[in-house]
Amino acid sequence: MKKDKKYTTNKGIPVPNDQASITTGKESSYTMLQDTHLTEKLGHFARERIPERVVHAKGAGAHGYFEVTNDLSKYTRAKFLSKVGKKTEMFVRFSTVGGERGSADAKRDPRGTAMKFYTEEGNYDLVGNNIPIFFIRDAIKFPDFIHTQKRHPQSNLADADMFWDFMSLTPESIHQATFLFTDRGTPLNYRHMHCFSSHTFMWYNEDNDYIWVKYHFKTAQGIETLTNEESIKICGENPDHATEDLFVAIEEGNYPQWDVYVQMMTKEEAKEYKFDPFDVTKVWYHGDYPLIPLGKMVLNRNPENYFAEVEQVAFAPSNFVPGIGPSPDRLLQGRLFSYEDTQRHRLGPNHHQIPINRPKNADVNIYQRDGPMNVSDNGGSKPNYYPNSMNGPEPDETFTPPTIEVDAEINRHTRPTEDVDFVQVGEFWRRVLSDEDKDHLVSNLVGHMGNAQERIQYRQSSLFYKAEPEYGTRVAEGLGLDVNRVKELSEMSQDERVEATKK
Ligand code: NDP
Repeated sequence: MKKDKKYTTNKGIPVPNDQASITTGKESSYTMLQDTHLTEKLGHFARERIPERVVHAKGAGAHGYFEVTNDLSKYTRAKFLSKVGKKTEMFVRFSTVGGERGSADAKRDPRGTAMKFYTEEGNYDLVGNNIPIFFIRDAIKFPDFIHTQKRHPQSNLADADMFWDFMSLTPESIHQATFLFTDRGTPLNYRHMHCFSSHTFMWYNEDNDYIWVKYHFKTAQGIETLTNEESIKICGENPDHATEDLFVAIEEGNYPQWDVYVQMMTKEEAKEYKFDPFDVTKVWYHGDYPLIPLGKMVLNRNPENYFAEVEQVAFAPSNFVPGIGPSPDRLLQGRLFSYEDTQRHRLGPNHHQIPINRPKNADVNIYQRDGPMNVSDNGGSKPNYYPNSMNGPEPDETFTPPTIEVDAEINRHTRPTEDVDFVQVGEFWRRVLSDEDKDHLVSNLVGHMGNAQERIQYRQSSLFYKAEPEYGTRVAEGLGLDVNRVKELSEMSQDERVEATKK
C-alpha cells in the first residue's frame, strides 16, 4: 500500500500550509487564535522536554546483543543464560553521572553502564558503572552524595569544598575517590572502558540453590584513557565526543564488544570472606574469586531516534528475571526502589508501555489498569482484579525464588569507618598502579583538592595517608601541607580527626 506522505496535524488532519500563520492581512497583521495548527505546534513544542534524569542525564545508547559463551546454567535458571550460543537482544545506555544533559562527555566522573536484556522471561536490567566499586555503601547517603557532585546552592558552581568535605567525612568513599582521580576517571570514550555490576547479586538454579555473583564486562577494544589535560581540552573542543565516537563506530560497522565474566562466591564462603562481600565499596580479589567467562556483549545498531530510545529508556535494577535476585547490599536495596520510582516521575507510571521499554520477547499479563499515558488496550474487557474466575492470568509458584534466612535486629545500624575500609586502596596503590598512574593520580588530586579549604585538605590527605603513607605523603606535599600533621591526623579515630579539622 502506498504510504500517505502528506503533512498532517497530530490528529491526522491535512496541513495546507506550514510557512504562514493565519493572519488578518498580507503585511503586518494580527494572528488568529483559530489557527489551531499553529497553536498545536507551539503548544507541543513548549512540552518537548521531559524532566532530565537527576543523575546520568547525559548519555548515549545503542542496540546490540548478549551471547552466552560458557554454560553456567547449573548456577542459574535464567533462560537467557541457558546454553552456549544463545543470543538475547539488548539496549545499552552509557552516561556520565553528575553533569546536566548538555554537559561534556569527557569530564572526570564515573560512567554509567545501564543494560537492558530483552529476555523471553521479561526484561532484565543491569545498571552499573565503569568502576567496580561505589563511594557509599548505604542508600540513605545517596542524595547528599549527589548534591556534593552538583552545583553549590548559592554560586551554582561546582564546589571543591562540598566535594571533599563530604568525601573526607565519609571515608568509605576513599576507594572510589582514588579510582576516580586516576586516568580511569576520564576514559577515552564509552567503547574503551569496562563495565561492572559493582553490586553483588544472587543467582539461583532450578533447585533453588543459590550463590552470589559479580559481573565484569571487559572491553575488547582495550582500556584507553585521557590525561587530565586531554580531558579538559576535549570538554571544550567537542563536549559530545564519546556520544559521537559510539555513533560513528557503529555506523561504520566497527561494533564494540565486551567479554563478560562473573565472579562467584558460595553462601558459606560469604560468611567467612575477609571483606563484607555485599559492601559495594569493596571488590572481591581476583586471586580469591577468579573471573569465570560467561558471554559477550556486542553493540551493532544505532538508535533511530535519540529521544524515543536513549532518552526514554528506563532502567531499574529491580527488574530481575527468574534465576537472578538481589543481595543484602544496602546500596542496592535502596536502588531497587529509587530507579523504578524515578522512572514513574520522569516518564509516568506506564513507562513500560514506551516501545524501548516494552518486553520484546515476553508477554505482559497484568491487573494494573489506567493511569496517565496509557497507550495499550488497557486490558480490554478482561478482568481487572485478582483472584477471579474469569480466566485471568494466574501466578505460577514454580517461579518462587529461594527462601533467604536472616537473623534480624531491626534498627538504623550505623557502620563506622573501619581500618578494613583502607586496605583495598593500599593494595591498589602498591600492587596495581604504575609509576605513571601514581604521578597522574597525585597531580589530578592536587589540582582538584587545591580548591578546597586547607582544613579539608588535611582531613582528606590524612585518609590517603592511612591507606598508604606514600600516597598520603605525596598528596600532602603536592598541596604544600605539613606531612607530620597529616600523619598525626591519620593516626586518630575518625571522630577525633573531624574534631581536629572543624571550622
Ligand atoms: P589484581 O591485582 O588481580 O588485578 C588488578 C586489577 O586492576 C585488574 O582487574 C586490572 O584489570 C585492574 N587495573 C589495572 N590497572 C588499573 C588502573 N590503573 N586503574 C584501575 N584498575 C586497574 O586485582 P585484585 O583483585 O587482587 O585487587 C587488587 C586491587 O585492584 C583492589 O584492591 C582494587 O583496588 C583493584 N581492582 C580490583 C578489581 C576486582 O574486581 N578485583 C577490579 C579493578 C581493580 P584491567 O586493567 O583490565 O582493568
